[in-house]
Amino acid sequence: LIGAPRPERSVVTTCAYCGVGCSFRAEMHGETLLRMVPDSNGAANRGHACVKGRFALGYATHPDRITQPMVRASINDPWRAVSWDEAIAYAASELKRIQSTYGRFAIGGITSSRCTNEETYLVQKMVRAAFGNNNVDTCARVCHSPTGYGLKQTLGESAGTQNFDSVMEADVVLVIGANPTDGHPVFGSRLKQRLREGAQLIVVDPRRIDLVRTPHIAAAQHLKLKPGTNVALLNSLAHVIVSEGLVDEAFVAERCEAEAYAKWRHFIADPAQSPESLAAETGVPADAVRAAARLYANARNAAIYYGLGVTEHAQGSTAVMAIANLAMATGNLGRVGVGVNPLRGQNNVQGSCDMGSFPHELPGYRHVSDAAVRASFESAWQVSLHDEPGLRIPNMFEAALAGEYKGIYIQGEDLAQSDPNTQHVTDALRAMECVIVQDLFLNETAKYAHVFLPGSSFLEKDGTFTNAERRISRVRRVMSPRAGYADWEATQLLARAMGYPMAYAHPAQIMDEIAALTPTFAGVSYALLDGLGSVQWPCNEAHPQGTPTMHVDQFVRGKGKFMLTGYVPTRERVNARFPLLLTTGRILSQYNVGAQTRRTDNVVWHDQDRLEIHPQDACDRGIAEGDWCGISSRAGDTVLRACVTDRVAPGVVYTTFHFPESGANVITTENSDWATNCPEYKVTAVQVVRVQQP
Ligand code: SF4
Repeated sequence: LIGAPRPERSVVTTCAYCGVGCSFRAEMHGETLLRMVPDSNGAANRGHACVKGRFALGYATHPDRITQPMVRASINDPWRAVSWDEAIAYAASELKRIQSTYGRFAIGGITSSRCTNEETYLVQKMVRAAFGNNNVDTCARVCHSPTGYGLKQTLGESAGTQNFDSVMEADVVLVIGANPTDGHPVFGSRLKQRLREGAQLIVVDPRRIDLVRTPHIAAAQHLKLKPGTNVALLNSLAHVIVSEGLVDEAFVAERCEAEAYAKWRHFIADPAQSPESLAAETGVPADAVRAAARLYANARNAAIYYGLGVTEHAQGSTAVMAIANLAMATGNLGRVGVGVNPLRGQNNVQGSCDMGSFPHELPGYRHVSDAAVRASFESAWQVSLHDEPGLRIPNMFEAALAGEYKGIYIQGEDLAQSDPNTQHVTDALRAMECVIVQDLFLNETAKYAHVFLPGSSFLEKDGTFTNAERRISRVRRVMSPRAGYADWEATQLLARAMGYPMAYAHPAQIMDEIAALTPTFAGVSYALLDGLGSVQWPCNEAHPQGTPTMHVDQFVRGKGKFMLTGYVPTRERVNARFPLLLTTGRILSQYNVGAQTRRTDNVVWHDQDRLEIHPQDACDRGIAEGDWCGISSRAGDTVLRACVTDRVAPGVVYTTFHFPESGANVITTENSDWATNCPEYKVTAVQVVRVQQP
């Protein structure tokens, strides 16, 4: 623009939104950020970006930002702005008071997948070393914890197997429970490019996602299953592969545990697992399942990409293992163009898990009961560590309601909006005596807080993010923290006030400590990242340049392990009272609960969540496009405007969760994955009726 300031310098950093982890140049004029330009050298995005990342600067300078610490004795009192010193001293004294009254296990902390690796590492370190327990969990609990569990059981590592470039060698791509063109747009574009080159596509999803209708692609099969039946569908695909002799027996014999394979083969060959037997359950015709299974198994290279539509179920971990079983059975692991690839929702889901944010694992996915591992951390941290797993987020809520859990430090996570069954969550928060929220904005959770510590945006700090392909990329400080401290500095202050010494001068020192204590990060340093641009872990002596493809010669666990994946129907069955199944997702222009994107003018294309409903179901209820609908479940009720569309099947309704006023999570239930407690966001039995404007 004529007269507009021109960039004087640029700083290369990483997008703060989705798990693609695009690299950007932040162009600066003096201390003013002019614009974000996609970086052509970025290994994850190669000069591309989506609307969210391009305009991410909007929320960072939004007037809603809280830039001064605040405290209050009761959630009914008004906030009182105080100095950092007073806020930290008050928070620490309250946490200490709680521990002296109720015991050391009465407090804990939650890390955020929106914060850097270094910040999540520090929070879990503070909980373990300063709080003296393992009550630390991450918001990944509610998205990809089943990935961590399922891939560790089968392949030995809690991470995706490929880099994004790998998709360009795939001949068949199976996308299950993911909507890459909205959720992971830059990867979605790369996938569409490959499809236009001739790769064939199988989509497993209750909803017709845009990918199915990509123009000029060779073929697309859409298995439009009923919500909650992933495991049945995956088992029926595997049944076809086994019963029609499509198993890569040489791969299985060389790479997988023989006994586990024999048991799985016996289980999956049972006619009860056939597409014909399961068609009524899944809603997918048997011939479509057979065609998809043949296509996947006969491909030279077949790759699976999956998202929260797999993990956020009562059988999320089972479905992840069923996906790994499919890939092992067909030999689609250990080379370019194949693999099992979780598409992570937030930018640092992989990283927050890697950094020991789970209550049972120290950094690098090593169990807290492992004495040798614990000893290495005890030596470095100069503290004695507890040897039993701590509380997961849902267990924290239960313990709070039982009067046993009284204090929590929540960094960058809006539990009251993003966790299921909102009433249950807010009741638990109300039952606590000290809730400390660290965030950019006064979010929904802050309504129940006693201490508010202002957070720092990704533009205000140094650190690293790890994307869905295990790629560690630098986050570089573009502007000074608006509240005076970056998040890692605030955590350090709180740890010190709790009596545990922390004195890092820069996040580079935190990464050096991570590398010294975590074998998969042993070769990682800021100097290496500055030289290479980014690196995929494992990065160590054996892989000094990182690891684009995992499990090449053998699986991380040695032999791959087939797991039995018996299908258990969800408790959310339709009945006369709740005759429809609600499932949830996201749109391109918004991100998660919308705290950032709703405050970025350029991406406010949608001003509310809507309820997609099939024309037949709408007609039965007298609902027309744009009408207000009342949606009720056994957990609660809310109101949304209708979007009448055949993208969803009869009997299924769909909405997003970007706007707090629509309260999608008021109606989701406390059902969760049997192994990890990941909530079953994707299936809720509901009733929908037409209502007057609220
Ligand atoms: Fe890239 Fe995801 Fe950011 Fe979009 S939101 S720019 S795809 S990292």
